[in-house]
Amino acid sequence: MWFEIIRLINEKQRFILTAHTNPDLDALGSELALDEYLRSLGKEVTILNSDSAPRLLRFVDPERRLRTFSPDRDQGKIDRAQVIFVLDASGGWERVGRVGEVLAARANRSGKEVEVVCIDHHANPVGFADVAVVNSDAAATAELIFDLITQAGGALTPSIARWLYLAILTDTGSFRFPNTNLQTHRIAARLIEAGADSMQLYKQVYEQYPLGLVRLKGHVLNSLQAGAGGRMVWSALDQETLKAYGATPADLDGFPGLGMQIGGVRVSLLCVELPRGRVKVSLRSDGSLNVNGLAEKLGGGGHPSAAGATVEGDLAQVTAQLVAEIEALLKSF
Ligand code: 5GP
Ligand code: MN
Repeated sequence: MWFEIIRLINEKQRFILTAHTNPDLDALGSELALDEYLRSLGKEVTILNSDSAPRLLRFVDPERRLRTFSPDRDQGKIDRAQVIFVLDASGGWERVGRVGEVLAARANRSGKEVEVVCIDHHANPVGFADVAVVNSDAAATAELIFDLITQAGGALTPSIARWLYLAILTDTGSFRFPNTNLQTHRIAARLIEAGADSMQLYKQVYEQYPLGLVRLKGHVLNSLQAGAGGRMVWSALDQETLKAYGATPADLDGFPGLGMQIGGVRVSLLCVELPRGRVKVSLRSDGSLNVNGLAEKLGGGGHPSAAGATVEGDLAQVTAQLVAEIEALLKSF
């Protein structure tokens, strides 16, 4: 499975790593781990993302390896790159955002001499890549990066172990989501052996919130609405409320799943108002309804039990429309 990618790593010198817009810890941890591994082989590596890491996740990058794409500064690097790794974003260049546009132009140039490698755990067609390892049995892209590094004979340094562990911890909702399997736990054990301190990393991610954000969680819990005979719950957050709690849409990791704590709930929906008339839609399910299908209809994507999209429209209207759609879907159960 990794033969082709290991060959590229051995033969080429200049690499660019990228991931999806609004990167989460799976995207960032996978990038940082692969970056360290490639640099240990003497390669020239640049991580280029369309968006910076959310403020609560900046701790993962003490050496400031993550770069937010800047056209003037980065075009040269893009022109000279021999391999582009697209991680956690098999949805295509669009999913990579504005740096994706520039990378796509480079990849599509004739006589391009650049290879595009996609590694992901979202089930998407990957026509844009020259080489792809896409495995939706993996709980996180980081599991695949673990596989690549170990199959290539690379060392699991303590920092690589920490990044991959953080990615798996968060993408599995602390090993709770249905994507978690035996292999996930086996890999986690190997990462702990290699230096990932599971308790310290848990604390770093889940016990360092600002007070306002925890209070905002209280607000969301208080404002949950139930429908479809208790089989769905939803909540909508406007800009004003976010501001009042000192929060931004990037801080809300974990919020969409809050409603799943309630017995009998199959689908949980969170709609968040973004600037310029857009709405971020997040869907979670207990696995009985494939929310990925709903997200794809809105131009987004994800997994069967966790998916999202960003749409144009008014917060109340988008929310009401989705609630009606989910209620209709649940009727057929
Ligand atoms: P969240 O709702 O937490 O933003 O995302 C849940 C899942 O849906 C993640 O796996 C994420 O990658 C995916 N997802 C969220 N927003 C989008 C989107 O706009 N496009 C695609 N393709 N996937 C998304
Ligand atoms: Mn992921």
